[in-house]
Amino acid sequence: MRDLREAAHGSRAGLLTGLGILPDARPGAGTDDGVVQEMLIVGRGGEGVVLASQILADTFARAGFWVQSFPEFKAERRGAPISAFLRWDAASPIHRRYKVQDCDVLVDVSPAPPSDDVLRAVRPGGLVVLNRETRFAHGGAFEIARVPAARIAQESGILSSEGRPMGNVAMLGACMKLLVPDGLRFLEEAVAARMGPASAAKNVQAARAGYASVIRQRARAGDTALEPAPEVRHAHRRALFAVSTTDSLGNHTGGWSLDRPVLRDACNDCALCALFCPEGAIARTDGSMAIDYLYCKGCGICEVVCPVKNAIAMEAVPA
Ligand code: SF4
Ligand code: SF4
Repeated sequence: MRDLREAAHGSRAGLLTGLGILPDARPGAGTDDGVVQEMLIVGRGGEGVVLASQILADTFARAGFWVQSFPEFKAERRGAPISAFLRWDAASPIHRRYKVQDCDVLVDVSPAPPSDDVLRAVRPGGLVVLNRETRFAHGGAFEIARVPAARIAQESGILSSEGRPMGNVAMLGACMKLLVPDGLRFLEEAVAARMGPASAAKNVQAARAGYASVIRQRARAGDTALEPAPEVRHAHRRALFAVSTTDSLGNHTGGWSLDRPVLRDACNDCALCALFCPEGAIARTDGSMAIDYLYCKGCGICEVVCPVKNAIAMEAVPA
């Protein structure tokens, strides 16, 4: 344990191996001891974001780091956007007690690509770790790493109650490779301690696969630049999250959506998706399916459970 901490602390740039992040130059450095690293983990309710942050915190603690982890729940419910925060420091206790707004490392557990708003949280020189097989052609002042976490989870038999592959532990394997390459054994210990005998073996296998298969993506000239944040006129601002001031009918959870499902001609109106929709936003009316976008939060469960090819697909919500 001690050797990992000393290695990280002895070389200030060494903790985020190969990234060249120099903590002393970051905004906010000096408010603690200047070496605390901050991670933002994002995803959707039900994808294991909070569990991932807790396991990673346990991992860093086992490796001898000071560590802090806590989640942020907005309106709860499966499929809603979820964030979890992690701080770790090789040398000193962490005294910050507020949520991570700008991060050195962004981990997106969800297979859906991160929004520009989320990417803007990454500090210059930081790292973005994606649950993704294909290239993410998005240029920013950060490095991108990809791991096929959903495929690993599928192959390892790690599925949610709806049958979705849970890529969270494979993402942690990738994080260890990128951040503490000598620390995989600590992750394996933390996963085994948390998961229990029934599912520990397959999750450890997923962690190892994530560790082995993560790749760093090279920037290309044609990558889309990160747009500057648009100026928001508050009078016309679209609500980011529903505010619970009334009963559930008054909570227009459609305001959470980055993507929304679109029904196609292949849909045979079997209504299986309506059975699984956590918002009751799909219904069969007069014999055919309809989606209420006022309440659809864009979780994508309907697309996953649909047994008919090309019957329903998630698309970006029009601006
Ligand atoms: S989208 Fe799929 S699950 Fe839903 S009604 Fe159509 S065929 Fe059935
Ligand atoms: S309609 Fe689909 S995407 Fe929308 S809330 Fe229901 S399951 Fe989620």
